[in-house]
Amino acid sequence: MSMDTTLATSDTHPVSTAAYDTSCPAPGIGESVYSNKLIPVPVTCPLCASTSGRVKLTINIPDRFERAAGIAAEGYCRHWVECLGCGLLLDVYSHDISAIYSDQYYEAAVEGETVSDRFERVRRMPAEKSDNAGRVQRVIDFISNTWRRSRFPFEHVSPRVLDIGSGTGIFLYRFLEAAPHWRGTAIEPSPQACAHLRTLSLAAPGRRASPIDVIEGYYRRGCVDEKFHLITLNKVVEHVPNPVELVADAAAALHEHGVMYVEVPDKRTLDLRPSTDNNLGALHYCLFDAQTLARVFERAGLEPLCVERYLEPSGKITVSGFGVRREFFFEFAKKK
Ligand SMILES: [Zn+2]
Repeated sequence: MSMDTTLATSDTHPVSTAAYDTSCPAPGIGESVYSNKLIPVPVTCPLCASTSGRVKLTINIPDRFERAAGIAAEGYCRHWVECLGCGLLLDVYSHDISAIYSDQYYEAAVEGETVSDRFERVRRMPAEKSDNAGRVQRVIDFISNTWRRSRFPFEHVSPRVLDIGSGTGIFLYRFLEAAPHWRGTAIEPSPQACAHLRTLSLAAPGRRASPIDVIEGYYRRGCVDEKFHLITLNKVVEHVPNPVELVADAAAALHEHGVMYVEVPDKRTLDLRPSTDNNLGALHYCLFDAQTLARVFERAGLEPLCVERYLEPSGKITVSGFGVRREFFFEFAKKK
């Protein structure tokens, strides 16, 4: 099998849109091949700028998102390449995938369920079976501990949370339910999801309603005026070609005593799950481990804290971590 692959670089999207000239003769359509072949990858790793990679997996069939966007099986080829500089797993395409994030995307994503139905299904899951319940607890524990140790007078602020790429809003909903004194803002590009998010209400007898502010669109630096005490990126960073840029842009909206939470699929998914696993699909530009996620925080100017990998109740292998402003960390961690 030949893996001689000549890659052309693109200035603006070094990984995602690099069309490479290969007929990718093997494997056949519909097959996947695992390898450890060293190949030169003349695209810049968005994390460490290395130009050397190792092909770990070749996929020769479009996934359901690509099929929904009309990408043909004929001549299809996609490689998962491990960066030899930092270990980041990069999805290298033979084709332009920008069409995936079209109107058909959300239909393919929810697989016939409405956004509200999906929200309700996840909301009713018992806590021990819910990835989201674990996530909410992880975030609340971290913030409580960090603010208590730092002596940040959190009792006297009206904290605000910004959830970037909210989807069904299940995280924000559960978080606000558990921490009702917080106010929430959701940013979400899908119009269908935004229509659903605007209907969410946490009003209950005897309790103040905590409506969620909804911003329709992609997060861009400067798209919000205020600073947030918590910014969350749940399974979002792997969907952009430049993870450092997104986290750095998000950090611009972080309050000086704020906390950022980033959760991404773990690269071990490639070794331990079938090649058809959703996290190995074309929507994912990068897969991480604890080291590469910590590096994303550092390169974005944040101090990484509590970066960990774990198996979620759904079976997903996940890595997550928190980032705070360096000055904030130094302020409370320095011995007086
Ligand atoms: Zn790298």
